[in-house]
Amino acid sequence: MRLSTITHLAYAVTLVLTAISASTFILSARSASQERTAIQQHLEVDDLAEELAVIAESRTDEARLYVMRGDEQHLARFYVDDDQEGHLEGSIAKLSGIGISPEEKAMFDRIRNAADAIDAIEKDAISTYRAGRQSDAQQALFGDEHYRLQTELLKQVEEVRASVIARSQFAVDAAKARSDFFGNIAKSMLVLTALMFLAVLYFVLSRRVALPLIRMSNVVTRLARQEYDVEVLDDGRRDEIGEMNHAIQIFRNNGLERERLDAERRKDQRMKDLMLQMMHRVQACQNQEELSDVVSRFMPQIFPDAPGHLFIIKEQGSTLQSRGQWLDPLASELHFSIDDCWALRRGRPHLSEPVGDDVICHHIHMAQNSNLCIPLTALGDIVGLLYLETAVGNHTSQADRLYFELLAENVGLAVANLQLRQRLVGMAKRDALTGLLNRRSLDEALNRLTENPGTPLACLMIDIDYFKRFNDQFGHDAGDAVMQYVARILLEVVGERGEVFRFGGEEFTVLLPGTTEIDAENVAERLRHAVERAPLSYRGRLLDPVTISLGISTSPQGGTISSVLEQADRALLAAKRNGRNQWIKDEMPEQA
Ligand code: GH3
Ligand code: MG
Ligand code: MG
Repeated sequence: MRLSTITHLAYAVTLVLTAISASTFILSARSASQERTAIQQHLEVDDLAEELAVIAESRTDEARLYVMRGDEQHLARFYVDDDQEGHLEGSIAKLSGIGISPEEKAMFDRIRNAADAIDAIEKDAISTYRAGRQSDAQQALFGDEHYRLQTELLKQVEEVRASVIARSQFAVDAAKARSDFFGNIAKSMLVLTALMFLAVLYFVLSRRVALPLIRMSNVVTRLARQEYDVEVLDDGRRDEIGEMNHAIQIFRNNGLERERLDAERRKDQRMKDLMLQMMHRVQACQNQEELSDVVSRFMPQIFPDAPGHLFIIKEQGSTLQSRGQWLDPLASELHFSIDDCWALRRGRPHLSEPVGDDVICHHIHMAQNSNLCIPLTALGDIVGLLYLETAVGNHTSQADRLYFELLAENVGLAVANLQLRQRLVGMAKRDALTGLLNRRSLDEALNRLTENPGTPLACLMIDIDYFKRFNDQFGHDAGDAVMQYVARILLEVVGERGEVFRFGGEEFTVLLPGTTEIDAENVAERLRHAVERAPLSYRGRLLDPVTISLGISTSPQGGTISSVLEQADRALLAAKRNGRNQWIKDEMPEQA
């Protein structure tokens, strides 16, 4: 209830109580006045009755004295008393109009009758006396009838007085009781009004104003300190304090909302920072392992509630392999075919959920979570898959989904770049025709080996004998086929022992680190033998047998690592001069 309503109500109640109090005071006063009137009436009637009796008695005395003594003074006083009696009877008639009861009135009538009867007897006696019959007159005034009437009159007077006393007492008591009753009510009303006033004052000032204001002040102070967790009173009041509380509540809610938005903005900003860091690092990765490491480290920081995998498609393959994972994803297989994933089939993100209408990817076997598959694409090719698990019901927000897709795009580009880079590096290092490492790689390998000068190294320089003939006889393509064929044999025979390079034209170099002279000779002989023995055909035509000449040099026995090439080449020339299809060691004396 509003304070103004309470105070208005209090005013109204106080007013009503005051009015009741005033009315009851008036009633009480009126009752007191009625009490006084009753007493006054009682006194008047009492006096009247008494006076009536006294006058009747006095007249009787005067009449008797007159008939006894014959003194005219008594007769005169008799008539004076007669006037007085007449006057009193007039008063009795008036009294009967102001509240004496009919019974009392009857009593007064009886008194008057008795008085009249006595008066008649006395006047008769006076007349009798004047007529000279003194004895008769005395007899009448002292006779039984006069006595009876006189007694009757006195008795009636007594009765009237008793009745009036009783009635007056009753009226006085009733008036007094009324007066007391209204007086008490008036006092009670006054006390009630005072209590009401005090209660309203206490309630309004203490309970409804002071206390809430103190609490409100504490709340406002804490809100000013940005402590928005403070409890704002909401007791459903609909008054000014309630409105202020409501305003504070709105202020607090705004603060909380602002804090929430700030926290969200900070979280979003941190997320974006991390994403930016991740993207920078992803773009700077030099190989697949680095990329997997970066993704596995950053994804759980950016999305702490989303375990996942980074799947990469094997180059020119149709299967995916998990190359990185974070936060222990449970539902997906680690290795599966492209066809097992709806996202990869459609080239669009796909959500697999245990409850839902959509199909579930085949590579997901424990569909207890929401499983999101986002294809990694670059330049129209799918290179992998970003896979994420989120708790069912905790659907990723639209923003998160966008971020996932943004990261997937970035990671996809990085994977494609790495694969491209790998291909380019391969192309820069290898010879396109034979797939062997090229001359540049040979120089790099020798440079690397030079860093450990004491390490044993054997070098074979190999040249296909009379190669030009293949070109001339069967065409350049046949020459190429011969070259590829020889390269394959060299790779097979050398195996893990060393590396095979295409030195240039139809010449090859084999480096055998950690190989002794004897071993090198063995390898050279096995190479020569393998090439010589292998049957070679081109487009259904059997070609002449291919042979190779080899020059061998070793380090450190034969010289430094940087000079092994030159030495081996020298030995190769010697082998050529010596008749071809043979190997010669650099130190070996040249045969004529
Ligand atoms: P020798 O026994 O003295 O080594 O005689 P050769 O004929 O093998 O040597 P030569 O230096 O006279 O000829 C090498 C030829 O190899 C010359 C060149 O046309 C050819 N050749 C070089 N590179 C390639 C290539 O990549 N493909 C083909 N088909 N031929 C090549
Ligand atoms: Mg040559
Ligand atoms: Mg040759």
